[in-house]
Amino acid sequence: MSTISKNSVAKVNYKLTVDGSEVEASNLTYLHGHQNIIEGLEKELAGLKVGDKKTVHVKSADAYGDFQEDLIQKFSRSDFPPDQEVKVGMQFQTNTPQGVAVFEVKEITGEEVTMDGNHPMAGKDLSFEIEILEIREATKEELAHGHVHGPDGHHH
Ligand code: ZN
Repeated sequence: MSTISKNSVAKVNYKLTVDGSEVEASNLTYLHGHQNIIEGLEKELAGLKVGDKKTVHVKSADAYGDFQEDLIQKFSRSDFPPDQEVKVGMQFQTNTPQGVAVFEVKEITGEEVTMDGNHPMAGKDLSFEIEILEIREATKEELAHGHVHGPDGHHH
């Protein structure tokens, strides 16, 4: 398999830049065509081969979505267990009808706690500098699970 296409497993080196500053430089191994990575990036990796380098700009709508004002919610200090420390920057998981959501404490004013459930990258345009390191065919088991196995993969 020489180019990235559906059911390829690709190892990609990347540098992520947001608003002009580098936020992450790492590599990832993913299963192509199974929505394992953000849509806007996956689209641009299709057809690349080992050694290819590319800069990919992904608009927020194709990355972590737009910033949603209604995900900023106000709670009362008494909504938290009394022995629970509540400080700005702390994150709490909540079960919602859409699954588990992570809310971060943005502001505490008296008894009022303002929480933000937006992804930290919501509303941000992302810029990736990528290089393709490896491409292989997915195993049957990986295809059945819809994700990568092996030393660079994860299992859950
Ligand atoms: Zn699996």
